[in-house]
Amino acid sequence: MSDCLFCKMVAGEIKPDVVYEDDDVLAFRDVNPQAPTHVLVIPKQHIATTNDLDAATAPLLGKLFLAAKQIAGDAGIAESGYRSVMNCNPGAGQSVYHIHLHVLGGRPMGWPPG
Ligand code: AMP
Repeated sequence: MSDCLFCKMVAGEIKPDVVYEDDDVLAFRDVNPQAPTHVLVIPKQHIATTNDLDAATAPLLGKLFLAAKQIAGDAGIAESGYRSVMNCNPGAGQSVYHIHLHVLGGRPMGWPPG
């Protein structure tokens, strides 16, 4: 998608602070971190929202979570705890329409989220 911010990162047109990359996944630090560790894990394939997932793309979710696990381990928050969350559509606060797993940790997390 030529007008998608995260696709531009995948294409190398915009350079985020990358913490993990493989054939299918890119992960980078959130520009407006909400916790000491706040990383966004995205599929390289453009998928606008979780409503657009299907049987063919669903395996990408497992890859995102495996990347999150590695990122949390590297950040030293795997044992203390971290949150992995995806927002879908405006009511949940989604602002970038390319699915992304927020990985947040390094501080206590409240529940329910706001
Ligand atoms: P969401 O509101 O769930 O769609 O999350 C989008 C996230 O993307 C927000 O946490 C933003 O801070 C983050 N974000 C927006 N632009 C950038 C950027 N250029 N680099 C890194 N993170 C970004």
